[in-house]
Amino acid sequence: MSNPFGQSTVLGYPRIGPNRELKQAVEAYWAGSIDADALERTGASLRADVWQALAAAGLDSIPSNTFSYYDHMLDTAVAVGAIPERFRRLGLSDLDTYFAMARGVDAEPALELTKWFATNYHYLVPEIGPETVFTPDPAKALREYAEAAALEIPTRPALIGPATFLLLAKPAVPGSNPFDRLDDLVEVYAEILAALADAGVAWVQLDEPGYVADRSAAEIVALHRAYTRLAGLSRRPKIFVATYFGQLDDALPALLDTSIEALGLDLIAGRATVDQLAAAAPRPGTTIVAGLVDGHNVWRTDLRAAAATAATVAAIADQVAVSTSCSLLHVPVDVSAEQGLDPQLRERLAFARQKVDEVVQLGQALAEGVGQLPAPLPPSPEQWRNDGVRARLATLQPADRQRGAYADRAAAQQARLQLPPLPTTTIGSFPQTPELRKARAAHRAGKLDDASYAERMRAEIEQVIRLQERLGLDVLVHGEPERNDMVQYFGEQLAGFAATEHGWVQSYGSRCVRPPIIYGDVARPAPMTVEWSSFAQSLTDRPVKGMLTGPVTILAWSFVRTDQPLAETADQVALALRDECRDLAAAGITVIQVDEPALRELLPLRRSSQPAYVDWAVSAFRLATSGVDDSAQIHTHLCYSEFGEVIHAIDALDADVTSIEASRSKMEVLDDLAAIGYARGVGPGVWDIHSPRVPPQQEFEAALRLAVAAVPASRLWVNPDCGLKTRRYPEVEASLRRLTAAAAAVRS
Ligand code: GLN
Ligand code: ZN
Repeated sequence: MSNPFGQSTVLGYPRIGPNRELKQAVEAYWAGSIDADALERTGASLRADVWQALAAAGLDSIPSNTFSYYDHMLDTAVAVGAIPERFRRLGLSDLDTYFAMARGVDAEPALELTKWFATNYHYLVPEIGPETVFTPDPAKALREYAEAAALEIPTRPALIGPATFLLLAKPAVPGSNPFDRLDDLVEVYAEILAALADAGVAWVQLDEPGYVADRSAAEIVALHRAYTRLAGLSRRPKIFVATYFGQLDDALPALLDTSIEALGLDLIAGRATVDQLAAAAPRPGTTIVAGLVDGHNVWRTDLRAAAATAATVAAIADQVAVSTSCSLLHVPVDVSAEQGLDPQLRERLAFARQKVDEVVQLGQALAEGVGQLPAPLPPSPEQWRNDGVRARLATLQPADRQRGAYADRAAAQQARLQLPPLPTTTIGSFPQTPELRKARAAHRAGKLDDASYAERMRAEIEQVIRLQERLGLDVLVHGEPERNDMVQYFGEQLAGFAATEHGWVQSYGSRCVRPPIIYGDVARPAPMTVEWSSFAQSLTDRPVKGMLTGPVTILAWSFVRTDQPLAETADQVALALRDECRDLAAAGITVIQVDEPALRELLPLRRSSQPAYVDWAVSAFRLATSGVDDSAQIHTHLCYSEFGEVIHAIDALDADVTSIEASRSKMEVLDDLAAIGYARGVGPGVWDIHSPRVPPQQEFEAALRLAVAAVPASRLWVNPDCGLKTRRYPEVEASLRRLTAAAAAVRS
């Protein structure tokens, strides 16, 4: 076969740069301090660095078009011309139209932002209707291909495949189904493939992770039809369909029945994949790209075990290549930058750069045998174990996860809190100003001593409290100035967690997070938030909410250990949080919010695995929050997702108040909650804080009137969609003033 796939590849690579160069450039462009050319130069140099690093490492097949200024779904929307008319109308440059879709402008809210499968990456949701006109625009893919070709690196442009693109889109017109447009869209892909072939592209990568979730028979038939059509084109590159985050089940034989040249399978998350592959019997000439290096976690691969799996696949398929299980977008760039980590931990870790080497080694083993592969490291050291925590978990009873009846709780809480109807509050963080970040960085670097740092933070908390009093909010927050990130902050204080210095991972757009690594048993050596919360409460007569991150979210936004079930790790984290809740309550904090924005994120993609997940996730949350008495009001907060599939789980958390993202989806979640009989407090977000836009007061009022129609006013709270840390003070003050005014108007 000419242009063989080769023996090693990765499905994608971090695009933010080793030191978040892309974030800095994009934000400078938004702020107007650099122009589009300067931004483009940074992008080009980051892309070149990645291709050169991958080529130098010895990868056979190198992806391109995995770079993005914001999001790869948005890039694919642009590539097929799916730019909604409301953005075209703005008459902006292509780049500014792109950023307008991503972030919104004064005149137009952004596209919806939602979770990318079970990861902490967020994509922009394309809006597709019956009238959407698809037009091929392969310019970005062609440009990246040409840039790499100029470096003498042939690459494989990657795009989201047409079926997954539509499955992840939302209807532009209510009641329509984007997926009905598949046949039209496939014709546009056909034109894109022709343009790529004309430019000399040998292989293209089309990502179809949408098929690792449950799909209807019709959706699988449509997938088969789409790839039969694309593979039947005479003018096209060879097609590599990449799937990841799970196993394909019925979609596997469907894809193998087409003439695509290569199929990528996730052998980390898709445990039954090898058996399914054997049963499906790939046709001769098809390359199976075996995802054997975990692209979604940071542990070194057991190369000998992976090579054994590769050998099993090689016995089934006629050609085999090794790859990462998914794009390396989801792991940090380079562990060799982490000189501060315990050496016993560091030697067990592999970030993107190290995973490329693992893939290359496995690819070589395919050809040359496993003789050269190193043996895995011995199991984790004894000192990472905590017998005290294990003993406590072993004696837990069901009552430890159960609070009193809601009616009693509500009465006890109202007696203490005396809140008006439609109480107003915020979700926790206030703007993280450059001065705040500087103070935290100086403290970390040892340039600001503990006492001066604490004084600086207290001054900030005092300002945030005074501002909220001026704005007339009912339940205040301390503003989280001391927190770099809602998970990392706890990770730094809990035993069993390690923090990295440079381990940034893209979350959405220019926003990056540094997930901690859970490597050992979790314990709380000392209270983590009590000092800040009680200081804030000492400043005011109004209740100040204590602010914690829930066990599920801590797990979801950390790299987790893989040597014990997630449920066990979740309970260890929950015990630490339970102690924190008790300490907060004992310090006079009457309202405690335990954020679970990632509850939906960890939900398994296949329905058959969901009940077991919901079970442990809910019980961990309840373990964390059931140690306080009835008069403590427990809030939880969820955001970034469609909640339909976890709506029962949200109810089962048994929080007294649930604040939930709702503004972009027009309060739909309230009907969903009402439909399942949710009967406790709820605060649907009325302000989309992902955009710098300051909505007019009527918009808040309209949202609140929708909410009052769906939920009795006695249970309704008024709050933004999420925390305010990424916003600036002028926007926050103006919006919150309108929000409290809207609440007052609707109250009367
Ligand atoms: N309390 C957190 C904050 O306000 C919640 C953030 C989140 O839900 N992502 O920043
Ligand atoms: Zn949130």
